[in-house]
Amino acid sequence: SASKRRTYALGIVPGDGIGPEVTACAVGVLDAAERLFGFSTTRETIPAGARHYLATGELFEGAVREKLQAKDAILFGAMGDPAVAPGILERGFILAMRQAFDQAVNLRPVRLYPGVRTPIADLEPERCDLVIVRENTEGAYVGRGSTVHAGTANAVAVQESVNTRAGVERVVDYAFRLAAGRRNKVTLCHKTNILVEAGKLWQETFDAVAARYPGVETDYVHVDAMCFHLPVSPERFDVVVTDNLFGDIITDLGAVIQGGLGVAASANLNLDGSAPSMFEAIHGSAPDIAGRGLANPAGAVLSLAMCLAHLGEAAAAKAVETAVVAVLGQMDGLSGADMGGSTDEVGRRIVDAL
Ligand code: ATP
Ligand code: MG
Repeated sequence: SASKRRTYALGIVPGDGIGPEVTACAVGVLDAAERLFGFSTTRETIPAGARHYLATGELFEGAVREKLQAKDAILFGAMGDPAVAPGILERGFILAMRQAFDQAVNLRPVRLYPGVRTPIADLEPERCDLVIVRENTEGAYVGRGSTVHAGTANAVAVQESVNTRAGVERVVDYAFRLAAGRRNKVTLCHKTNILVEAGKLWQETFDAVAARYPGVETDYVHVDAMCFHLPVSPERFDVVVTDNLFGDIITDLGAVIQGGLGVAASANLNLDGSAPSMFEAIHGSAPDIAGRGLANPAGAVLSLAMCLAHLGEAAAAKAVETAVVAVLGQMDGLSGADMGGSTDEVGRRIVDAL
């Protein structure tokens, strides 16, 4: 019904560091997209992040969760601040939201856009167009484990990885559906030879789902081998499906291949409509460059494009992506002075291109 009335309720969480700077650009592009494509949004900006936490003790649970639950989608900036102990905001907000809103899939397109410099020699853009589907609520990120004899010479730390058939199946099935609209290939990335318990569950589930999509080609690559193949022969991959930890790691590698953290976008998708999905650039709060207009807003604006596609505004999504690609193609580099203008100026250029 949301797509029929074409009015969407958005929760906007700018967060810390460069989060508010790049989110402001994304919102500026959203304003322009609404005027051009005839849809509208109601927006609520949620105060969350380091300063809010230090002042109120509030993370995700409580009022923030209630407000966000009612939205059609969430635009997220970044969270993390040297003034708050590492992990508190990450686990207390970002992981908490992914769990509470059952955002089962972390979707990470890896595309090298024309004119963007990549550290991989002789990589042509047409060879690099893949999507990583990362399981987002299970695996090693469930926070289960224990330590005995902590802090002593006999310390033993056990960290558990929890993988359920249902949790893996919904993500693998999503990967196959996605491939069916692309180049019809899904690669499973794991370490099945060593992590035999989880590996067996992933492989069995992958095979069972694959049987339902006879038109889709399948492939398997160990995660260590993936770190070699992804930069050297990205054309081998269309959709890559993997677990939470491996996905976290290989998506940063993906960002490097596509030119850097400044251009990498992501979606955290709730697959059953029980809660909103969340869209964020994959970079963090980058305190080293915060407040100086040096951050590239492309990742945040491309995440907005993914949000628009998710809401059913396909034409606007495509146009926003095309505008970002045009502006990226004119930059000498992806951050700071090499962008040829500040964060806000790049944002205005994207609006002009749109
Ligand atoms: P977090 O723990 O929040 O993920 P991090 O230490 O991984 O943080 P990021 O914030 O992801 O660090 O950024 C790493 C570095 O990449 C930053 O120090 C910054 O210099 C650069 N960087 C990140 N995002 C951007 C951007 N949008 N534009 C330009 N440079 C960026
Ligand atoms: Mg990081």
